[in-house]
Amino acid sequence: MNGIIMVLNAGSSSLKFATYEAAGAALAQLHAGQVEGIGATPHFVARDSHGLKMADELWPDGGAPADHAAALNVIITWLEDRLPAPVVAIGHRVVHGGPDFSAPILIDLGVMAELQALVPLAPLHQPHNLAGITAAAKRFRGVPQVACFDTAFHRTQPFVADTYGLPPQYHAQGIRRFGFHGLSYEYIAGRIAAEDPALAKGRLVVAHLGNGSSLCAIANGRAQASSMGFTAVDGVPMGTRCGQLDPGVVLHLLDSLGMTTAEVTRLIYSNSGLKGMSGISHDVREIEAAGTAAAEGALDYFAYRVRREIASLAAAMGGIDALIFTAGIGENARALRARICEGLGFLGIVLDPALNSANAPEIASADAKLRVLVRRTDEERMIAEHTMAVALGGQAPSHRPASQSEDA
Ligand code: ADP
Repeated sequence: MNGIIMVLNAGSSSLKFATYEAAGAALAQLHAGQVEGIGATPHFVARDSHGLKMADELWPDGGAPADHAAALNVIITWLEDRLPAPVVAIGHRVVHGGPDFSAPILIDLGVMAELQALVPLAPLHQPHNLAGITAAAKRFRGVPQVACFDTAFHRTQPFVADTYGLPPQYHAQGIRRFGFHGLSYEYIAGRIAAEDPALAKGRLVVAHLGNGSSLCAIANGRAQASSMGFTAVDGVPMGTRCGQLDPGVVLHLLDSLGMTTAEVTRLIYSNSGLKGMSGISHDVREIEAAGTAAAEGALDYFAYRVRREIASLAAAMGGIDALIFTAGIGENARALRARICEGLGFLGIVLDPALNSANAPEIASADAKLRVLVRRTDEERMIAEHTMAVALGGQAPSHRPASQSEDA
């Protein structure tokens, strides 16, 4: 089967895309890019498969795309003469699949209604994801569309990792630890399975550290526990999100300090974490360069919480066979990686400073008991692979572990 698989990832003010040419069971990436600043000052950028910029557009004189449908139109218009074959399937990143969607699914009206019903679980993200699906469905009538969920990979976690200490009716009505970044974890688990099947059968802690950060315990290719919970604000501190917070703090902010729900939401999602603590930026590079006491405090807190989470997830699996760093910080921030791993010698985690500085694929010291890997994640490719398998009956990608391909 030949044709183009388009991947769309609709955020609150952005629409990211990637295109892949499907030839037989293989997928070759063609383009990737995004329209950012939808509703404010939109900016369109597109790159080729080598990362070289092919388009860079602003609309200073008007005519800027005002919503997701208009942004999709910008992308489609740009792609029109550049695609070597017709678009045969579209894959969407959908943040929330609720308790029931444990695998990607072909979207129809019934599925759309179910996804709509999950909006209260992710009010800041889900509506934008659905807007992207609606826009694509109108633009590509009859082309199969597949929803790929950030939560799906985590549905294998046991009850104790899935629940809060609330009466059971709350768990039954969906107040659970859903976990997020599942497409990234699934991609990494698949990559390890392709590289080293024996290791993939073991116990991995994967640290997805980017603007959004979480960690996941994976045993034999299956998710066992996540640092993130009911929403993507829980767990370790992030670029602008606070991470774990005593719920009593939220009650205090609302009741004693008189803050509104909107103000608390802004505080914990947009003005906390690395940005809020450093007072400088959400970006680790800028915080490291600043060198102020607040900046050091923010980096120390980030490293400390990630370190605690690694040990906690190892405990959840009764041990750990490898630690894997991924995403923007995990793949690049050597100094922060070193800071995280300080004091983890008791788990057998000891870095080789030279390998770590070189961003080598294996960064543990030669005599360390545990392997520590750095791997690039690729959520778009994971979505493209799922989309091909679900919409077009393509082969499950060869690097995906057997246990996962059953689900997909
Ligand atoms: P997102 O969660 O938005 O996909 P990324 O995974 O791209 O984010 O991670 C972006 C973050 O990675 C940046 O904000 C920055 O903190 C960090 N980062 C990227 N490159 C480097 C680097 N060379 N050194 C330190 N931090 C980096």
